[in-house]
Amino acid sequence: MSIENPTTFLQSVDRSFNQAASALDLPKGLARQIRTCNAICEMKFGVEIQGGYEIFTGWRATHSEHVLPAKGGIRYAPFADQQEVEALAALMTYKCSIVSVPYAGSKGALKIDPKKYSIEELEHITRRFAQELDKRGLLGPGINVPAPDMGTGQRMMSWIADEYQKLHPSDINAQGCVTGKPVHFGGVEGRMEATGRGVQFGLQEFFRHPDDIAKAKLDGSLAGKKIIIQGLGNVGYHAAKFLREEDGALIIAILERDGAIIDEKGLDVEAVSKYKLEHGKVEGFPGSQFVKNGNDVLEHPCDILIPAAMEGVITHINAPRIKAKVVAEAANGPVTYEADQILNEKGIFIIPDAYLNAGGVTVSYFEWLKNLSHVRFGRMDRRFVEAQGQKIIEAIESGIGKSIAEAAKNKLLAGPNEIDLVRSGLDDTMRVAYSQIKEQELSNSKINDRRTAAYALAIRNIADIYESMYL
Ligand code: NAD
Repeated sequence: MSIENPTTFLQSVDRSFNQAASALDLPKGLARQIRTCNAICEMKFGVEIQGGYEIFTGWRATHSEHVLPAKGGIRYAPFADQQEVEALAALMTYKCSIVSVPYAGSKGALKIDPKKYSIEELEHITRRFAQELDKRGLLGPGINVPAPDMGTGQRMMSWIADEYQKLHPSDINAQGCVTGKPVHFGGVEGRMEATGRGVQFGLQEFFRHPDDIAKAKLDGSLAGKKIIIQGLGNVGYHAAKFLREEDGALIIAILERDGAIIDEKGLDVEAVSKYKLEHGKVEGFPGSQFVKNGNDVLEHPCDILIPAAMEGVITHINAPRIKAKVVAEAANGPVTYEADQILNEKGIFIIPDAYLNAGGVTVSYFEWLKNLSHVRFGRMDRRFVEAQGQKIIEAIESGIGKSIAEAAKNKLLAGPNEIDLVRSGLDDTMRVAYSQIKEQELSNSKINDRRTAAYALAIRNIADIYESMYL
């Protein structure tokens, strides 16, 4: 691929896949079977808007069906197209495999600028889209389960769930047809923050590996590390907030649609988010320096660069000028294939999207399990765990002959609630997957970077399923 014709998002995903597959010993044709998108459906449907009719175009790709249901977000964006949906669906297949959630990959999109429509109009459009998906067998708790992505959120997921329930009133598992719902409507605590929380857990895990820290020419922990974040939406806001408030990192720059703001002493993420909500932009945030061409700030010196907005923001053009030591891919596909090669040559440590932003699908999996089991996490065991804590305290106190400190007692006495269990499950998932990816790299001399290692892990896991199916 020449520099004049850089790879598309789909080509980038496929080329990363091919690179990993060539490092593995697979039966002839199996890599191609895993890489190929099984089905993509384009839908056009009319919706009555303000006394007239508007035709909308949507897609749903089912990349694989080696396990079911297929899982993946629905994006509302004016620039959505079929190739992008296919690339995102492929990434979902690999992502689910990397974090061991029993789903195949899917993705959907509607070509729409949601900001141009009222809430009532968006509801009408979303319900019509759900009907279209349903009548083509692309929606259902055992078949295909969407979730939020760019431009969509909890409210839209409730409309989809409600529409599905109306169409299938006797399906006892109907609520599990979509994830990312509000908690009062079948959602799970912690889903909204999940992708950003997963980014935090992934970075925390990186800092538990001294050899990786050294490889990235860093030292110490997340505390005090200088971070630049692009996109203060769902993923970027939560990641930046947790890294700052809980790990002591400094968010020295935030890039948004209107430009970037910089403060080397560290930005108050919560305050920036409020300011952005109020003013519709980050320009003018008190105490910060504003840079109109926000993308220039991707090249600003920092320890960790977190692209959390969209794909293709680091290309062969700006990659040679990136100064971060770690690029942590919170968005899907932010680094093109050529840029990936350049960053690797520069010794920049990339934590790949297929792993780092898998927190969303992991917690979606928990939500789906909750919907299928019809019981809130912690309901059965919380008081039991508390009673056990009480017995332990009594045994310790009688052994040492005095009361233990109130704070320690309270910790031992607190049984887990849903958010504790969700965070614990997500933390465990991110830790285990990190080590499994690293193991792929360490055990295979043909693999020299974490993206190839992550893809190799996914391909190996999926290949095992295919090989068992065809026995
Ligand atoms: P979002 O729509 O909530 O937020 C995106 C943010 O990026 C917005 O604040 C927007 O203003 C900003 N933005 C858009 N274009 C920009 C640009 N050119 N420069 C700077 N900022 C820009 O979307 P999201 O759900 O946070 O998703 C962000 C990325 O994360 C996407 O790549 C998405 O596919 C990926 N992702 C999201 C989830 C999830 O659970 N939401 C899960 C996995 C991956």
